[in-house]
Amino acid sequence: MTPEPSQIPSTHASHLILGAGPAGLTMAKMLRDRGIKDVILLEASSKVGGKCLSSEIGDHIVEFGTCYAIWSHKYILKQMKKLGIKRKFLRAQRIDDRELMDYIRDGGGPGFLWQVLKYLRLRKRLIARAEANDSETNAILSQPTSEWLRANNLGKIENMMHRVVTSIGYGYLNRLPLIHAFRWVDFNMMVTGLLKFTVMPEGGWQHFWDRFSEDLDVRVNEAATAIRRDGDGVRVETADGSEFSAERLINTLPMDVFCKLTDPTESESKVADAIDWGGYTTSLLSVADWPHEAPVNSWSDTCATDANDGQILFSRYECPDEMERDLFTVGQLSSAYSLDELTELALFSARDRGAIDPRMMQQIVWSYMPTYKAQAVRDGLLSAMSAMQGENRTFHTGASFSHEAVSTISSFNEQLIAKVAP
Ligand SMILES: Cc1cc2nc3c(=O)[nH]c(=O)nc-3n(C[C@H](O)[C@H](O)[C@H](O)COP(=O)(O)OP(=O)(O)OC[C@H]3O[C@@H](n4cnc5c(N)ncnc54)[C@H](O)[C@@H]3O)c2cc1C
Repeated sequence: MTPEPSQIPSTHASHLILGAGPAGLTMAKMLRDRGIKDVILLEASSKVGGKCLSSEIGDHIVEFGTCYAIWSHKYILKQMKKLGIKRKFLRAQRIDDRELMDYIRDGGGPGFLWQVLKYLRLRKRLIARAEANDSETNAILSQPTSEWLRANNLGKIENMMHRVVTSIGYGYLNRLPLIHAFRWVDFNMMVTGLLKFTVMPEGGWQHFWDRFSEDLDVRVNEAATAIRRDGDGVRVETADGSEFSAERLINTLPMDVFCKLTDPTESESKVADAIDWGGYTTSLLSVADWPHEAPVNSWSDTCATDANDGQILFSRYECPDEMERDLFTVGQLSSAYSLDELTELALFSARDRGAIDPRMMQQIVWSYMPTYKAQAVRDGLLSAMSAMQGENRTFHTGASFSHEAVSTISSFNEQLIAKVAP
């Protein structure tokens, strides 16, 4: 006889975290560092690290998912140091085989330094008001990024964003609401460019997250299937019939997924409706010859403000394969296409860039870059997302609440922790 849910013995913790990706793991670590140790993470897959996929080819590691840390990854860089994990610096990066700075200088408007100062000043003012829910700020933050940059004569910043925003899959500037560009391109990003500070953890990201989570209570292969929240607390059932209870819940899952597991609050439904998830595909190509020297290249025509999905945004040299051909990782914005079309487009795009006899070796399609609908931002989404924290014993974090990067997610958690564990 199947027991009633209330008869199933539950495992209790003070905090339950849904998902052991970067958002869940860093939150659990921050709670632990505050002395809160009875925290359980429920993870649906068999590994930690979320959208990290480190794949070994001989003694080389190909990162199909999470790849770089930059100057903004302050929390993560500190943790790498603590764990004794060395950083591998990324070699030369180019756009159309040119120095990024030369491409930036092609942009319109006054000198680059002047534009940086103006951008940072305006950004600071607008970001400070992002959650105030005033209609003027909401309207600006919902604008397409390129529209705002052009209105402010920031053509060199627009060129910079082709590389630091679009080439890594965050979207085309004529469609991307300004709030997303602001969250990612901040002072630390400017320092990254200046110092050329782009690193990877030695041994790969999976190794980093495995080491990072050693002292955390992660239950892998435990997909949450139902969540109940009431005056007595939170109860979560998982796919194998286990039940977990807690005083507080920390959700890192996409809001549309979360809402299907529970009776959502009005704010939770509103956030689920306000977000479009994009698609991003990373592919491993083998080529007989490749006429570009820099290990990492991006392409101005495919990263341009109004370019189309599906084309190769960047290429990264990995290593030779068994046939002494060269292996490259490439990225495509992919939600508009099927896998077969993406293969065709990747091979076409590679040939267009001079690749000889490109062959598709592997493709991984990701759900990527939760992008806010412009109307929702105008209607006060940002202040609603802040106000809902703690409602119904639940806190929300992860890419949708900050940005699709490990740095922004961990910085967001550093702020949120003050509400979760005051
Ligand atoms: C191709 C690619 C390249 C990237 N490159 C970089 C980079 O260079 N630098 C960088 O900082 N970031 C990079 N990112 C972004 C970064 O990986 C993500 O922003 C980050 O992983 C998001 O973390 P998260 O915890 O919010 O979500 P996720 O990583 O998606 O983790 C959510 C976790 O929840 C689990 N889950 C789902 N459903 C359930 C359920 N029902 N019950 C329990 N668990 C569940 C999932 O299995 C997953 O492990 C990249 C991402 C991709 C795809």
